[in-house]
Amino acid sequence: MNTPKKQYTRLATRAIHAGLPKTDAAKPTVDSITMANSFHTDLSARFAAEEAGESQDYFYTRWSNPTVRSLELKIAALENAEDAVAFGSGMAAITAVILHYLKSGDHIIVGEVMYAGVIEFLHTAIKRLGIQVAFVDLADLSSVAKAIRPKTRLILAEVPSNPFLRLCNLPGLADLARSKKIPLAVDSTFATPCSTQPLDHGATLVIHSLSKYIGGHGDALGGIVAGSRETMAAIRRDQLIHLGAALSPFNAWLIARGAATLQLRMEAHRRNATAVAHFLERHPKVRRVIYPGLDSFPQRELAQRQMKLTSGMLTFELKKHSTIEPFVARLQLFQYAVSLGHHKSLIFYFPTRDLLVRTFKLSPSAIKKYRDSAEQGMFRVSVGLEDADDLCEDLDQALR
Ligand SMILES: *Cc1c(COP(=O)(O)O)cnc(C)c1O
Repeated sequence: MNTPKKQYTRLATRAIHAGLPKTDAAKPTVDSITMANSFHTDLSARFAAEEAGESQDYFYTRWSNPTVRSLELKIAALENAEDAVAFGSGMAAITAVILHYLKSGDHIIVGEVMYAGVIEFLHTAIKRLGIQVAFVDLADLSSVAKAIRPKTRLILAEVPSNPFLRLCNLPGLADLARSKKIPLAVDSTFATPCSTQPLDHGATLVIHSLSKYIGGHGDALGGIVAGSRETMAAIRRDQLIHLGAALSPFNAWLIARGAATLQLRMEAHRRNATAVAHFLERHPKVRRVIYPGLDSFPQRELAQRQMKLTSGMLTFELKKHSTIEPFVARLQLFQYAVSLGHHKSLIFYFPTRDLLVRTFKLSPSAIKKYRDSAEQGMFRVSVGLEDADDLCEDLDQALR
């Protein structure tokens, strides 16, 4: 068996070699997929989820599965976490974390602008459960401190935030949370472990939508949460097994294959996004470009301190509203679609009013802050792995 014995610490090596030891009798060099949803057991097997424990004996795939487990251990290794639990989507991972920490009468603090699905969930199902939600600008630590109540049980941050690419000071937020004994969970989907490892900055948990950069090819939904062994065991028992949003072994295999090239892809995404950001910033029809790698990025100093590698995500705004439709119609390489982190370049338009008023339900004073990033509306671009010159030429002909 050729599973490395040495504990490798560098991310690119871990991304390829971390996971379960190879056990197949035929000794293949890469992981095979175990599609079985149930496993041979004996009379000692117990059905109750609370007995799932740390046992490596597989039982039923909603509990655990070797292919899914291998992916969990890989992501735990990339995030310097003791353990991880995979889910069928990023939303399933996030809702599992929220439901793990909160019950009726409790209070949660979240970023005022983050993944729209999370905000919608907090405004609907979570409020119906009698849980209080404070939507706060997490970049402003004094606002966070003011929002903390005796019943605050979780701070949930997204860094950088989708779609405005706002950062918050992770060590500062983690210190504040720790001083009040409140767990801090960070959705690091936009950053990836190649950029930021939130646990190393003091966060309690890190969450990813695996459907984005980690899977990397737009062909599988998945989500994951990583943290302490104890918390992961509780989340597996109470959220994964009982709520049931398990990851398919086939998707786990696709995502693990994508994760193996994460470092290489992220460097290429950054190179291409830097070229596209510079091109757009110089273009006379473009009002503003937001990219953490640009000198003009509003939180540039924090980005340099906290992000080892800026990703392929950027936003930009056109000067004239009337140019939006013809621009989109002329695009050839950029596909107009949601999602992000794929090998193909994707672009999507967010009208500021819809986003801030309808989705995020922001107050007029909060809206003012975001109008600086996008007056009318902005394009969110996930710069893919095509040739950078081809991407810039496509934008150039579409902006003519
Ligand atoms: C896409 C996304 C999610 C949701 O993940 P799914 O896999 O689509 O459920 C959560 N957070 C962020 C930051 C995302 O970009």
